[in-house]
Amino acid sequence: MILLKDVYKEYGKKKEKKVHALKGINLSIDKGEIFGVVGFSGAGKSTLIRCVNLLERPTSGKVFINGIDLLDLAPKDLRKSRKKIGMIFQQYNLLSSKTIFHNVAMPLILEGKPKEEIKEKVEELLDFVGLGDKTNQYPEQLSGGQKQRVGIARALATDPDILLCDEATSALDPNTTEAVLEVLKRVRDEFKVTILMITHEMNVIKDICDRVAVMENGEIVEQGSVVDVFTEP
Ligand code: ADP
Ligand code: ADP
Repeated sequence: MILLKDVYKEYGKKKEKKVHALKGINLSIDKGEIFGVVGFSGAGKSTLIRCVNLLERPTSGKVFINGIDLLDLAPKDLRKSRKKIGMIFQQYNLLSSKTIFHNVAMPLILEGKPKEEIKEKVEELLDFVGLGDKTNQYPEQLSGGQKQRVGIARALATDPDILLCDEATSALDPNTTEAVLEVLKRVRDEFKVTILMITHEMNVIKDICDRVAVMENGEIVEQGSVVDVFTEP
C-alpha cells in the first residue's frame, strides 16, 4: 500500500547549510494498517510524512502508493493519486470564515462535484464523525476535538485510501484525544483506510497503532509491533 525505498531528503543547496532530514528510509505499510512514527523534534517525522504525498519531493529514493511510483507520474496523474491521500494537521487548518459544512465540502467544490452530491456526502461524513448537528456553525464555535473531527471529515471527502496524521492529537487534552482516536479507528474499520501517523505521544501510539517505527536523526532505528518495540527485553 505505502512503500518507501531508500528515501533521502536534503534541505538547502549550499554545502555548508545542507540538512540531511531523511537518510535512507525503508518502510512498508499494509492496507488497513495503523502505523505510527515516533521520535523527538527534528528527527525527520514531518519530512517523512510530507514525502508520502509529495508535499516534499525526496532528493532520492522511491515512493510507491498501491504499487505506483509517485515520483514517476506526470502532473495530471500525480494530482489524481494525491486525491487518494488525505491529511490532518495539529492545528486543524480549517477555514475560519467558512461554516463546518463548507469546510468539509471544500475538496468536493474544488473538484466541481454537483451540489446535491456534495450535500449528501458532507452530511454523511459529519454524521460519521458525530457532528451532524454542527453543519452551520463556524470553527471558532467548536472545541479542539470537534475541530479535529471536522478535519477528519474533510480529509475523507475525496474517499482516500490513505490518511496522513501530523501530530493530530498533540494540541488536545487526554479525553478529547481519546474521542479523536476512536474516530480514527472507525475510519480504518469502516472505510479500510490505511493510517500513517506521526506523533511524539507514546500513549497515542500504544492506544491505536498496529506497528510503529522509531526515528532518530533522519533514520528509522527500530520498527515492529507496538508490543515488541515498547516491551523491555
Ligand atoms: P520532526 O517532524 O521529527 O520534528 P522535521 O522533519 O520537521 O522533523 O525536521 C527534520 C530536520 O529537517 C530538522 O533538522 C529540521 O530543522 C530540518 N527541516 C525541516 N524542514 C525544513 C525546511 N523546509 N528547510 C530546511 N530544513 C528543514
Ligand atoms: P459561505 O461560507 O460562503 O457563507 P456556506 O459555507 O454557508 O457559505 O455555504 C457554502 C455552500 O454550501 C453553499 O452553496 C450552501 O448552499 C451550501 N450549504 C451550506 N450549509 C449547508 C447545509 N447545512 N446543508 C446543505 N448545504 C449547505
